[in-house]
Amino acid sequence: METKFIFVTGGVVSSLGKGIISASIGRLLQARGYKVTIQKFDPYINIDPGTLNPYEHGECYVTVDGMETDLDLGHYERFTGIHTTRNNSITTGRIYKTVIDRERRGDYLGKTIQVVPHITDEIKHRMLRKDEKDEHLDFVITEVGGTIGDIESAPFMEAIRQLRWQLGRDAVCVHLTYVPYLKAADELKTKPTQHSVKELQGMGIQPDILVLRTERHLDDHLRMKVASFCNVDLECVVQSEDMPSIYEVPVNMQRQGLDAAILRKIGIPVGETPTMKSWHDFLDKQHNAKREVQIGLVGKYDLQDAYKSIRESLNLAAIYNDAKARIHFINSEEITHANVAEKLAGLAGIVICPGFGQRGIEGKIIAAEYTRTHDIPTFGICLGMQMMVIEFARNVLGYKDANSREMDEKTPHNVIDIMEEQKSITQMGGTMRLGAYECELVKGSRVCQAYGKETLIKERHRHRYEFNNAFKKEYEAKGMKCVGINPAANLVEIVEIPEKRWYIGTQFHPEYSSSVLNPHPLFMSFIKACIDIDNAETLS
Ligand code: GLN
Repeated sequence: METKFIFVTGGVVSSLGKGIISASIGRLLQARGYKVTIQKFDPYINIDPGTLNPYEHGECYVTVDGMETDLDLGHYERFTGIHTTRNNSITTGRIYKTVIDRERRGDYLGKTIQVVPHITDEIKHRMLRKDEKDEHLDFVITEVGGTIGDIESAPFMEAIRQLRWQLGRDAVCVHLTYVPYLKAADELKTKPTQHSVKELQGMGIQPDILVLRTERHLDDHLRMKVASFCNVDLECVVQSEDMPSIYEVPVNMQRQGLDAAILRKIGIPVGETPTMKSWHDFLDKQHNAKREVQIGLVGKYDLQDAYKSIRESLNLAAIYNDAKARIHFINSEEITHANVAEKLAGLAGIVICPGFGQRGIEGKIIAAEYTRTHDIPTFGICLGMQMMVIEFARNVLGYKDANSREMDEKTPHNVIDIMEEQKSITQMGGTMRLGAYECELVKGSRVCQAYGKETLIKERHRHRYEFNNAFKKEYEAKGMKCVGINPAANLVEIVEIPEKRWYIGTQFHPEYSSSVLNPHPLFMSFIKACIDIDNAETLS
């Protein structure tokens, strides 16, 4: 089958969950045996979100091949289990940079370079994945960030318009809008949807399918109204009511016939509805998980999306351990020696979060000391692991001035240091140790048990600084073991204190490779330890 293209746009307001809908479409098509990929086109000028403050766009997700991307790629991977790559996350900045670099090289032979056709051609080229060496794909799902009507997304819309025209039935446009409920009038309102579709039509795009986000059920009469005002078939007006969990969205979309509508539009026989057994098994577990496990996230960003993949990895691991993760954010800037006991009270386990820069690191170190000395399960990720290492140097090895080179240029006890190859780098953005690297696990360690059969794992990185091997012997002698080593560079990737119940830090980010059907082994092991210890303590 020739590759088909699905474009997902959004209207009325942002935050409707376009990423979740795109991921759900991917999952549903996969369930029918199709090979899919999902890509995101973001209309901002940054080359990638790597240098963006998480307060602006939430977490930065990292692909296996080392691209810093939008957090929606995390949804794509968690829902579908596919690996995305650097070409699954494109920004206006990257498009312009390619075109401008080409112009500087003289490739355009003196032509005037314009938004149409040069920028739009480059967008189309990438939407069609012309440079990708993908194995054959049946569907490419392209989500466009932002909301219809934004000035900045206009070139993307023009590219979609042209592709629709060029590809005919091989392209489908799915538009996501919002149907608000007005309490005072006790009515659901379709006008914003009508306006949003008009806006799309004004750009020459007739949506094939409308997904209406709503907090209340929409009856057939209302769907009919939307269908007739927007020139869309009734069966292609799908509603997406609020769900208790994002993981219910694919099955809800299947019930509403979203995947069937897409196939019909393209002209592919719909056939039987897939059972999605493993997905339903997961949802059953989620429904039946009664017990709660209280997890503290020690970090500096008081924003749900800043630690999205960590939160989801904890949620997934808890569900597979028949529990619900209740996640409490603890602002590390507010943690002091005097209040740490109170701040961490009642938590079964603590995650010390990744991050950059000084802000909040002392609170992370205090938290690491408290959980180490009180034997509370602790999972340090990237900067979190580095803070565990610094805490151990200060309080166990006796180096009061121990620090990371990132925070203190001069300390003689630079237990976390800059990598040799990073020293000469002055450019920001894409210059860190990024993407998946191998790691050899030490046999008999807790992490080795957690991973099961594998001893050579691959995990994704995003950092500049590293455990300083000059101190390795001292750490090991005093009980903090280096149990995961990069075989090529001899870098320490994992530390653990075996005599503690669960005290593990990883230089890599395991949260990027946890998916609905394959929760990450380290998160599984961490949550299990939290639950077991909690149970034992409740009994005693
Ligand atoms: N700031 C640290 C480094 O660059 C950790 C980065 C992170 O937590 N992702 O090494």
